[in-house]
Amino acid sequence: MISLSDALRGAEQNKTAIGHFNISDLAGLHGIVAAARELNVPVIIGVSEGERKFVGVRQVVALVKSMREELNHPIFLNADHTHDVAGCIEAAQAGFDAVLFDGSKLSLEENTREMKAVAEAVRKINPEIIVEGELGYIGSSSEMREGIPEGAAIKPEDLTKPEEAARFVKETGVDLIAPAVGNIHGMMANAPEPNLDIKRVADVAAAAGVPLVLHGASGNTDLDVRKAVEAGMRIVHINTEIRLAWRKGLEAALAANPKEVAPYKILPGAIEGVKSVVLAKLRVFNRL
Ligand SMILES: [Zn+2]
Repeated sequence: MISLSDALRGAEQNKTAIGHFNISDLAGLHGIVAAARELNVPVIIGVSEGERKFVGVRQVVALVKSMREELNHPIFLNADHTHDVAGCIEAAQAGFDAVLFDGSKLSLEENTREMKAVAEAVRKINPEIIVEGELGYIGSSSEMREGIPEGAAIKPEDLTKPEEAARFVKETGVDLIAPAVGNIHGMMANAPEPNLDIKRVADVAAAAGVPLVLHGASGNTDLDVRKAVEAGMRIVHINTEIRLAWRKGLEAALAANPKEVAPYKILPGAIEGVKSVVLAKLRVFNRL
């Protein structure tokens, strides 16, 4: 079975991106895995702190690892947006393939210091684990919103600077960087998302020398995401759009079966909803 770093190298060679999709339950996991298998591409399952608390840290590892082994398919697990060193260590000890330390609300100095501590602690547990850092605040909730979250970097002068990215990688030793390049967590309820700054993506990728991760890609156009992948994004995160698909799929199944009470007969509606969105996204990221 290939490792996540093998999959990242493959993405770099092909100028494609690995899809990263969050789950809160087994229906989401089944939908994502079904889509990745249908297209025969690797996939990353993400769990934020809230999602991890609901599913269980050790339980989500057991689910993902058992599916990877049984299906013989590259399915990886990431501890998405972890805000402290202890949370990163807990995920590493439980057997996650990757951890993201999110120090984007800290000053650059504090973010660098904490990130270095995370990278060292995680590598002591398992040197194979992929460590990601975040530079530039891009909001924090995967939700439908009316505007841009307060404090989010969206003006050109607030976006991640190539020289900052280079220094951050050198000082912390991270494997991946999530920059602020016009991307925002969540998606607009009634308006298009702002465009991504593709030139900035290319400049940060060249300066950083490590693969970049595009967060908050829900609501961005396929064309914009395609260009960002071409410019150096090697992982793309989608959460809000699949949360929406999960809910709509569930509502449709409940409406179609008003008397049904067996969860395993209702939840396939959510699985199908998630699967169809993930299929469309994976085609864009993998240029299929
Ligand atoms: Zn994110």
